[in-house]
Amino acid sequence: MSKILGIIGGGQLGMMLTEAAKKMPEHISKVIVLDPNQNCSASLVGAEQIIADFKDRDAIVDLSKKVDIITYEIESGDSDVLKSVENNAEINPSPETLKTIQDKFLQKTFLQNNHIPVPEFIKIENFEEVKIGLKKFGYPALLKARRDAYDGKGNFKIDSENEIQEAYDYFKGQKLMLEKFVPFKMEVSVIASRNTKGEIKTFPLVENIHEKNILRETIAPARTSIDVSKKAEKIASDTMNVLKGAGVFGIEMFVTQNDEIVINEIAPRVHNSGHHTLQSSKTSQFEQHLRAILGLDLGNTELVYNTIMYNILGNSDFQGEYKKMIVTEKNIFLKMYEKKISKPLRKLGHLNLVGSDNQTIDQLLDELSQIKDKVKVKSI
Ligand code: AMP
Repeated sequence: MSKILGIIGGGQLGMMLTEAAKKMPEHISKVIVLDPNQNCSASLVGAEQIIADFKDRDAIVDLSKKVDIITYEIESGDSDVLKSVENNAEINPSPETLKTIQDKFLQKTFLQNNHIPVPEFIKIENFEEVKIGLKKFGYPALLKARRDAYDGKGNFKIDSENEIQEAYDYFKGQKLMLEKFVPFKMEVSVIASRNTKGEIKTFPLVENIHEKNILRETIAPARTSIDVSKKAEKIASDTMNVLKGAGVFGIEMFVTQNDEIVINEIAPRVHNSGHHTLQSSKTSQFEQHLRAILGLDLGNTELVYNTIMYNILGNSDFQGEYKKMIVTEKNIFLKMYEKKISKPLRKLGHLNLVGSDNQTIDQLLDELSQIKDKVKVKSI
């Protein structure tokens, strides 16, 4: 029987989930998103919208009564409120899984307890503990907000003793943890999925390039040895096995100088580094997420084409309406999120540059460098 799907959050991830849902009418008859912004991206591609804050208890209850199943595109939802509406609608990933993941300290403790490699870390309750931690880890180390951090905004890298006070004050009383700095040689991620029946599948390892802590490019597959890729994919699948949540999860990792893998963080949702799957793979991460939460067999995760995903971000020095972009190359798939206003570093869209049979990653990177100018955000 076809179900009504509710999504907390109607930004670009909600938009691409809605588009995937529309291709599965036999399983999903309607999508309703909860999002505070009128005309959010998902609403522009056919989702109904409840306009309210992501944490608005009444709105979440209202959503739960209108749908059969709830999922989310953001991890900052209120897991207690979600738990309280479980009788109205099935929630995937479960509020328990969300609760563990949305607190970085609980998340890393959980992983460590399950023998999954993470950087060394400690809980921070007061200023003295930062000093004690730094004695243990040495410099640099990262002071991190445990909750509600995104795009690197919740981190402060402490390089020397002089910066301890500034770092501590930066977080103004938030719950904190301290983490040892990992001098990684590459940032990578695995898009992993687990369906409600326990079937697990991972997409191949990809390489992520950040600018100002925001994802800029994803290279699929990652330029690592097969051993490293297999190791990372195994860690991702072990993680899914212990986490038990249903859905797609973005598992961000570091490759160390000795080719060890440690998990940086997990997102309990579809992930920016999985956008390449829209063209590179037989199943997109969005379809996979829906298959996982609906309890359908998971789709094929094989990478069919080498692909580079490039994020289109608002310019740092500009805010306002921007010109429509046109790309005519046949192997470039431009996806704009229909946001009216550009803001500094706002994610406005992405493109997938899809390789042909024999095209190497280096050739694709070359091609990308030639078109970056064409997709610069320009004011109207
Ligand atoms: P996060 O918001 O925790 O994902 O961190 C944002 C970025 O900070 C990551 O993509 C890394 O580039 C960097 N980072 C976070 N944790 C560490 C760490 N323990 N060692 C080195 N770099 C880190």
